Amino acid sequence: MARAFIGFGGNIGDTRQLITDAIVCLALRCELQILAKSCFYQSAPVEALGGDYINAVIEIETLLSPYGLLYVCQAVEQEFGRERPYTNAPRTLDLDILSFEGIHQEDSELTLPHPRITERSFVLLPLLEIAPDFFLPHLGELKDYLPQVAHQRIEKLPCRNCNCGEKAISSQSTH
Ligand code: AMP
Repeated sequence: MARAFIGFGGNIGDTRQLITDAIVCLALRCELQILAKSCFYQSAPVEALGGDYINAVIEIETLLSPYGLLYVCQAVEQEFGRERPYTNAPRTLDLDILSFEGIHQEDSELTLPHPRITERSFVLLPLLEIAPDFFLPHLGELKDYLPQVAHQRIEKLPCRNCNCGEKAISSQSTH
């Protein structure tokens, strides 16, 4: 099993609900298991258009390959109506593979870890919420990058009837 982190973001429609539904969609797939989910965050657009974004990060375990996971993420984006009319257009739902088992690769179809993982508060904050000591071989401790993104506006949203931040949100719960 490989451990991976997926980042979600969007700024069109009820993004909290879209992300919640997309995570349920992923949880229903037998090839992966959701281990943790961050709270929701509201962030200012960075090199993107439109209003504020809503973001979250999940940690998963999966039997998929990195490309297998990418295709699953792209299928979920399509299912939730993502359109790409132009670069950095506002978006209903964007899924990014932030890291996959510490793999380092620079294929344009799949760059791992995600090239902007250390440059965005909307990635670092939710990721570090569920994995405070997260470390990547070529980047080191991710929390060391927080000062560099401190100027990017972001706010953790109050929980709304969810289990965010708790480990082991799983479709295979024994309760
Ligand atoms: P975006 O429009 O920002 O969602 O970028 C999507 C494109 O980035 C797709 O063509 C993907 O193949 C490519 N891509 C490269 N690395 C990654 C990654 N780590 N996670 C998701 N998409 C990626």
